[in-house]
Amino acid sequence: MIEITFLGSGGGRFITITQFRSTGGFHIRASRNLYVDPGPGALIRSWRYKLDPRKLDAIFVSHRHVDHCNDLEVMIEAMTGGALKKRGMLIASRSVVHGDESHTPAVSGYYLDVLESVHIPEPGSRIKLGEEEMVITPSRHSDPTTIGFRMKTRYGDVSYIPDTAYFDELLKWHEGSRVLIAAVTRPRDMGIPYHLSTDDAVVMLRKMTRRPEVLVINHIGMKMHFANPYKEALYIKNLTGVKTYVAKEGFRVMMGKDGISVRTLRPARFV
Ligand SMILES: [Zn+2]
Repeated sequence: MIEITFLGSGGGRFITITQFRSTGGFHIRASRNLYVDPGPGALIRSWRYKLDPRKLDAIFVSHRHVDHCNDLEVMIEAMTGGALKKRGMLIASRSVVHGDESHTPAVSGYYLDVLESVHIPEPGSRIKLGEEEMVITPSRHSDPTTIGFRMKTRYGDVSYIPDTAYFDELLKWHEGSRVLIAAVTRPRDMGIPYHLSTDDAVVMLRKMTRRPEVLVINHIGMKMHFANPYKEALYIKNLTGVKTYVAKEGFRVMMGKDGISVRTLRPARFV
């Protein structure tokens, strides 16, 4: 059984600073524990949903924007037991590890030193993670080093399309995944550069010959939030036939040999 738990569903500058939707990224429990895009709140939300960050084996960061990498260092702190043991893997864009013209690195040398391995993979690279394998996928975003992935598991594939403009090549990388998680930031008719809108999601799914069983829309921006993402999800489903869910804090997707099911977890009382 593969378990994907969302610690937030927000994205973009205005949702991030207001926390109208939380921005903690998501967690995948397979043969190993992987945290994806630890935005602001990742540490707190992990505890709120009883996902012990000390049990992480790897962290993936798609790019160096604050809604994706803010909590990276503190999550490494947890994964390495307070930076006391050399442990865990970081898989991240070049901008996260090295910075770029306008950003410092999102992780200091102190934390890089306590990791067992650091990967800055190019699209097409394959990284083994326990029984699973991640294939790194491309993106076209304002951070040009942004990466996504397709995780191959014994129950089928899980794809993550982070912030990106739509481009046809996405089809070849993600077609045939069972679960597709995509940053669909904008509602229909309100697209902006470097991000997917509901219209882009429809175009992409329609062009796929092997569509996912489930699409989860994530990285909800302010315009999407107020347009009602549930209406947008229904619109996608009606036009493509793909069961479409909206991520939210505590939302869990379970993929096993018998099928895919979802539930929403209650937060733990102690936080
Ligand atoms: Zn971004």
